[in-house]
Amino acid sequence: MNAARTELDLLREEIRQGKAIDGKAAVESVAQRAIARLEQELRPRLRPVINATGIVLHTNLGRAPMATVAAEAAHQAAQGYLNLELQLDSGKRSSRQQPIREWLCRLTGAESATVVNNNAAATVLVLRALCRETEVVLSRGQMIEIGGSFRIPDIMAVSGAILREVGTTNITRLEDYARVIGPQTGALLQIHTSNYRVQGFTKAVPLADLVRLGHQHELLVIDDVGSGAMVDFSRYGFTEEPIVRDSIEAGADVVLFSGDKLLGGPQAGMIVGKAELIQKLEKDPLMRAFRLDKMTLAALEATLRLYLDPEQALQSVPVLRMLGIPIPELHQRAKRMAQRLDAIPSLATVKVNRDKAFVGGGSLPAQEMETVVVALEAIDLSDEQFAYRLRNGDPAVMPRIQDGKVLLDLRTIREDQEEKVIQAIESATAQKNAESQGGE
Ligand SMILES: *Cc1c(COP(=O)(O)O)cnc(C)c1O
Repeated sequence: MNAARTELDLLREEIRQGKAIDGKAAVESVAQRAIARLEQELRPRLRPVINATGIVLHTNLGRAPMATVAAEAAHQAAQGYLNLELQLDSGKRSSRQQPIREWLCRLTGAESATVVNNNAAATVLVLRALCRETEVVLSRGQMIEIGGSFRIPDIMAVSGAILREVGTTNITRLEDYARVIGPQTGALLQIHTSNYRVQGFTKAVPLADLVRLGHQHELLVIDDVGSGAMVDFSRYGFTEEPIVRDSIEAGADVVLFSGDKLLGGPQAGMIVGKAELIQKLEKDPLMRAFRLDKMTLAALEATLRLYLDPEQALQSVPVLRMLGIPIPELHQRAKRMAQRLDAIPSLATVKVNRDKAFVGGGSLPAQEMETVVVALEAIDLSDEQFAYRLRNGDPAVMPRIQDGKVLLDLRTIREDQEEKVIQAIESATAQKNAESQGGE
């Protein structure tokens, strides 16, 4: 109804302005346009987007795309029934945490594990259930904001733990921690500075030293590693990403990490560590508020199982596969795409360039990755207008804009999406400036 009314209003306006109108044709075209408008209005708001930004973990684009087996597991869980909280052998009730617990213990060497909605929830739960009304000691160099409203002082406040800052932004020594420990202290907390680096004259305390100090005083040592690397990322040239198993081996009592960053799975917050502590967490009322649904649990189990064979994980987990594509392969694909784009007359420039892109998603901050892009300029369109049309096309394509050019980064464009990207560019530049689509 609204769509028809809007189109009629537009027609009335044209008549008022004295335009010559053919009555019968006008009625037909109003009807057609009303249908088109309605179809547009009723389109799903969530749509698939081809990620041409080169940012592998793009939070606005849903972070990690999942492995095929993980997506299939979620699909199956969604459409049918499953033994979510049922022991098939005894027929008795079980915990929905048990399958994930088993895989996480096997993969990280931890005694026990549990999983919640995301790492932010994991942090709140751990601080509340294990550290409420006690002081939690944290280096000033690790006082992070992850984005949105996830800031450590606020998280401490909602969880009821008392933040005790030590050291300075660039230097924190073991003595700084030792000096503040007293009867009020509950835990030593280490947080991986996922999205920034303090560089230059810096010093942080190695986890093993923190563990030694903490355990001398019977304190908990909690390690928020952020990304949750299960494999060694130094193979990609990233040297500062902590591996979950290493934190457990260093003696941390509780280690926290995300499911949808470098692990490459669904959104989730993993907590691995001492069995007695995990039990305490699971008894907290927040556990129920933070629990995962069946689709996410199924996808997470499938993702974790891929890591039983790390070589297989590198092939099957899309995040790892994308990070591992060698430059010559990207270059070849970019050249092939550029050749096709060269034939589009509405493009003024088509170039293949070496470039750098961030990994994104609050991971590997200081680490830019070498990559290859196709850089485009369209005739008669600004970079913003061009990008606007690509984002609003079907399928939607999200490029990067740099120095007046629209960049398509081959690292995050799947090979089977290349053809669609070419078509999207064709139709985005073919529209000319007929419509009033200008920028945002
Ligand atoms: C990303 C991150 C978080 C938040 O994790 P989410 O899963 O996005 O809630 C917390 N701590 C660190 C160190 C992080 O890198």
